Order: sequence, then structure tokens, then C-alpha cells
Amino acid sequence: MTSIVKTQSNKKAPDCPSCMKFHKASIFEDYCFRCFILKFPEKSKHFISLSPMFKEIYTGDELKELTLEHSISDNSGYWKGIKMILKNPICDEQIRQIALKEIYYILTLIAKKSKCLTAEQAGFLWERLKPTEGYKGWRIQHLFAGCVFDYWNLKNTINGSVGWCYYHARPPIKTKKFRRSIMILKFIHFSNKQERIYKKLNNREKGRLESWLQSIPFDTMALNTHL
Ligand SMILES: [Zn+2]
Repeated sequence: MTSIVKTQSNKKAPDCPSCMKFHKASIFEDYCFRCFILKFPEKSKHFISLSPMFKEIYTGDELKELTLEHSISDNSGYWKGIKMILKNPICDEQIRQIALKEIYYILTLIAKKSKCLTAEQAGFLWERLKPTEGYKGWRIQHLFAGCVFDYWNLKNTINGSVGWCYYHARPPIKTKKFRRSIMILKFIHFSNKQERIYKKLNNREKGRLESWLQSIPFDTMALNTHL
């Protein structure tokens, strides 16, 4: 027992300054390999050319392009609508709840179009809607981080520590699928449910959806959004 504990305590904690999930290396500019590729696309070309395995990794530009494709633009009617709701500062809890529900409705419309938010847009929403006293704020972080396409761009300083901790992950390699945002999962699940087709989400996705529904600030079934 003693030896097990000792071995574990000798283990170096992940120290990549960007993701904190993998080990940094000086050869990769003191980042982990994946973060190095994202941050130094030019320098990493050399490493990528060394092995075909690295060709399976998305470049920063490819990820940006995919994010544009799968999220709403700041010029879209949806985003303008959200900005209208937030035109005036949120000054009390009742107004915050109303704004959250109105924005939730717009998020369901976005999901129906198979689109998501960017991590940056989710960060803007968290900034504008976070409670001054901090209570219940974690539920709001769940709500917005669960709508993000580029989950690898989530940051604890911008999206809140809960939003970052639960939803941040590295992008997949090219042969694997991206994690679907929970808002998209919810749309697929509940629209299929009406047609009695349940099979489109895997168990892991069903679990993620379930825990999100229990974490967000209100009961979505009580809202009349049909989603
Ligand atoms: Zn990293």
C-alpha cells in the first residue's frame, strides 16, 4: 500500500500550460504536442511531415474553418436577437431568469438548424449573465458551455471553471468524430422521441444529455419551446 501511494505521488502532474491535461516538452515549445500544433502551425509542419500519423491531426486553420461552418455567425439574426435581449445590463435576479429563458429559446432554434455557439460567444453570454454573488452561476456555465462546437477553445477564465472543467476536451483526430454539443443532442433526442426513434444517441451521449438537463438553471420541460 505504501509503495503504491509513493509511486502515485512521484507521478508528475500534467503541466501543459494550455490544456493542463498532458505533459509539456521543451521540443514542443513547452506545450504538449497537440497544443503545440494548434499554437505553432508553421513550426509544427516539420513534425507533421515526419510521420503520417501526424497527418491525422487537424491544423488550427482546419479547426477554425469547421467552427465557422458549425456555429452561428455574429451577423446572424439569432446572435443579433440574443444581443437585443442583453441590450440593458441585468440588474436583478428576476430579469436574469427571464433573459436566460429567452436566450434558451433562441438556442433551441439554433440547434434546430444543427448549429452551435462558439466558445467565444458562450464566454460573452457567461460574462453578461453571471450573477454578481456567484450563487447558481455554475448552472449558467453548464447551459452555455453545452452549446459550444469548438469545445477545445473553452477557457476557465472566459467560460467559467465549471464550463471549462466539464466541457473542455482536445479536438479529435481526423478519423474520429467531434463530440456533439448537448443542445444538438437534445434536439436529436427529443425530436426523434416524438417519432418513436430513440437510437441516434449512444449511451455516453445520453448520459451527457441527462447530466446537462439536471445542471442547467431551469427545467426545460416546463418551458414551452417544443425542445
Ligand atoms: Zn496541451
